[in-house]
Amino acid sequence: MTVAVVGAGPAGTRAVEVLVRAGQRPVWIDEAPANGGRIYQRPLAGTTRSHRDLYGTEAAKAAAIHALGDRLRDASDWRPGTLVWNLRPGLLDTFRAGRHEAIRFERAILCTGAMDRIVPVPGWTLPGVFTLGGAQIALKAQGAAIGARVAFLGTGPLLWLVAAQYVKAGASVALVLDTSPFATKARATAGLLRDATTFAKGLALVARLRLAGVRVIEGGAPIAIEGTDAVAAVRVRDRAGREHRIACDAVGLGFGLKPESQLADLAGVPFTFDGTQRNWVPQHDGAGRTQVPRIYLAGDAAGIAGADAAELAGARAAWAAIADGGAAVDIAEVARLARVLARIPRFRAALERAFPYPAVLAARTPDATIVCRCEAITAGELRAAARESHVMGRAPEVNRAKAFTRVGMGRCQGRVCGPPAAEILADALGCDVAEVGRLRGQSPVKPIPILALAAE
Ligand SMILES: Cc1cc2nc3c(=O)[nH]c(=O)nc-3n(C[C@H](O)[C@H](O)[C@H](O)COP(=O)(O)OP(=O)(O)OC[C@H]3O[C@@H](n4cnc5c(N)ncnc54)[C@H](O)[C@@H]3O)c2cc1C
Repeated sequence: MTVAVVGAGPAGTRAVEVLVRAGQRPVWIDEAPANGGRIYQRPLAGTTRSHRDLYGTEAAKAAAIHALGDRLRDASDWRPGTLVWNLRPGLLDTFRAGRHEAIRFERAILCTGAMDRIVPVPGWTLPGVFTLGGAQIALKAQGAAIGARVAFLGTGPLLWLVAAQYVKAGASVALVLDTSPFATKARATAGLLRDATTFAKGLALVARLRLAGVRVIEGGAPIAIEGTDAVAAVRVRDRAGREHRIACDAVGLGFGLKPESQLADLAGVPFTFDGTQRNWVPQHDGAGRTQVPRIYLAGDAAGIAGADAAELAGARAAWAAIADGGAAVDIAEVARLARVLARIPRFRAALERAFPYPAVLAARTPDATIVCRCEAITAGELRAAARESHVMGRAPEVNRAKAFTRVGMGRCQGRVCGPPAAEILADALGCDVAEVGRLRGQSPVKPIPILALAAE
């Protein structure tokens, strides 16, 4: 049985560990040059920053995942630097070093992780604006800050974490603006205490920022990112409605995460709308099995649950694939994984309540603001399309808006603009965001040079 594991983050690494332990030699693919995924992303060769500096309280976990990945390289058919750009029944279309290769699989475990969610704040396409994840990767992988004076705007644990990491690295942080008010977070405390260790780590981040004298606004909203050729300032509104203009030369922007689930979509896995996360999530049975035979999901690709959950889910999905292939499983271990995994959703739900996606902010994106930067489609054009489809009496649907406007038709395939576009359409049509659906996944899931394919 050839099991293919796509992704070498915490989920993929643990999935491969279990498969190897069960005597298999899986194909293991990641577009990154080494394992670690997003949270444990490795720095470039030659870096002098220690694990403690790079990964803070998670340094020991990072070291464990890296060491495990190094051990598993020879025990698996390890293919780093390889993008899976398409999935067909029993075949993964990959692209590596300028060459295309179709890889056969009998079972595939998709551990493709997550990405930042944005709200298109006016000015967000200016040079100097990064996603929070991008700002963090610059620091982790390249040891560079995105600017000399950085403003962080958004919501979610990553907002506070990245800002604190910048402070720790000696960067100047001009502002942290969290759209979630303090009271909203305080109300979620009981749920957050279900994982008291993680909660305490979060409080420590806030304390670090406060001690460093960083300006913090909770419950505010970004108005615009200003500048002509590059970022020069952010204009924001605080909770009392007062406006502030804060000079900066770079912005980290992010409003939670969304699953990277295009390969699951191409496989035909059904999705459901998770109202708490406000994300479309591919369905699975809790053990990683989907309704599509031989396709399994694990980690954040199956719904945002964090790195510790990803490790457990990766192992759990591998055992499911092993069992379905008719081989023996470690029943006690599977039961343990299921037990621990069952505790996670409540803590996660509390996190989502503490840092809700600011749907209204996205829905009210000013008319002139670009939502889809690949195709330069503004919020106003989307609203016009909504009016047109309404007049024509057709069902409100984000893929229809794509046909009308080209939103999501560019290089990102709607991975960035899809969620805010759906919020804008739903608001314009006066319906629930779940009713407008989601932009369907298309291959190639990420850009590849067409000439390389033509040569094949
Ligand atoms: C940018 C970013 C930064 C984050 N930083 C933190 C943090 O500091 N602390 C924290 O607690 N959480 C962080 N998170 C969340 C955390 O990364 C996840 O909860 C956790 O890593 C999930 O593990 P995973 O294995 O599911 O996915 P990931 O760790 O995201 O791993 C997925 C892997 O799949 C690969 N991949 C995806 N698609 C393809 C494809 N088509 N072809 C080939 N390879 C593919 C990616 O290169 C990646 O290595 C971050 C998330 C993001 C998006």
